Order: sequence, then C-alpha cells, then structure tokens
Amino acid sequence: MPKYQELPELAKKKESEWIKFFATNKKKIEGMDLIIHNFHNISSSKINCLECANCCRSLGPRITDKDVERIAKELRLSSVDVIKKYLRTDEDGDMVFKSMPCPFLGTDNYCAIYDFRPKACKEYPHTDRKKFFQLYKLSVKNAYTCPIVFDVMESIKNYKLKS
Ligand code: SF4
Ligand code: SF4
Repeated sequence: MPKYQELPELAKKKESEWIKFFATNKKKIEGMDLIIHNFHNISSSKINCLECANCCRSLGPRITDKDVERIAKELRLSSVDVIKKYLRTDEDGDMVFKSMPCPFLGTDNYCAIYDFRPKACKEYPHTDRKKFFQLYKLSVKNAYTCPIVFDVMESIKNYKLKS
C-alpha cells in the first residue's frame, strides 16, 4: 500500500495503463462489482484513515443543500450562517468548503462533524459503489490522492479476468 505522499508520482506512471485496461475490458469489469467491493474491503483494511486524512486536507467535497441543513441543525446555526462561515461556490457552481484543509478536520485527523458530515465525505473513496465501472475515470483521478483507490485500481488491473 503506497503512502499518500508517493501517490502523485506513482499514479502518474499508472494512469495511461489503467485507462487502457478499463477501455479494453469494459464488459468484464462491468460484471465485477462484488469482486471490486472485496478489493475495497481488503485495501481499506490495510490503512488507518486517521493516519492519512489526505482527502480531508486536499479534496473539496461537493456540499448539497441537505448537507447544509443537517450541519446547521447539529451546530445550532442557520443554514445561511453555515454557508457564510464555511462555504463558497466554486467555478462549476457547486458549494465547497471555503478553504482546504477542511475547517472541520482536527489536528488529530478526526472530523469534528463526523456523524453528520457531507454525503460526499461518507461515500468517499467510492470504490465500494455500485456500477463501479461508471466511476473509473473519477477513480483514476482519486488515485492521485487516496492510497485505497490506488490499491483497488491495481488490484482490478492485476485480477485475472475470465474470458
Ligand atoms: S479515504 Fe483515502 S485519502 Fe481519505 S483518509 Fe482514507 S486512505 Fe486517506
Ligand atoms: S467534513 Fe469531515 S470528513 Fe468531510 S472533509 Fe471535512 S473533516 Fe473530512
């Protein structure tokens, strides 16, 4: 399992190989969700996210209106105040945190709003999602940030595909 610090260089070396592999094995990989979810579980068990937190430091999750409402309720703020204090609208029109690292990330790598964190945070790194094939391009991108994603991408590529 690579360290997150190594990923930009390692993922850059693998990117074209992954893209070619997924493009040429589309049909087989589409039927592999259960196997891929197993890879996800294996890769997740090899790393303690609290020793990494690279996603919370470097990626800006997209935040929905529902996320804002939930966070506001739990923090006993109004939605307007949550938006003013923590959020901005990015160039694609999406709400994201004003700055990264995330304002809710503690120095111990714990999330201060873990139980009511944004949906995008809950679903990250997406390697256990249904129809994983549809997310492979996003996963190629995420492999630059997340050791779990890098490891899953390698496991898929190295899996002996049945003909
Ligand atoms: S999900 Fe990935 S990037 Fe985020 S803390 Fe865990 S290993 Fe690190
Ligand atoms: S809300 Fe929590 S899980 Fe989401 S980026 Fe911030 S610290 Fe990480």
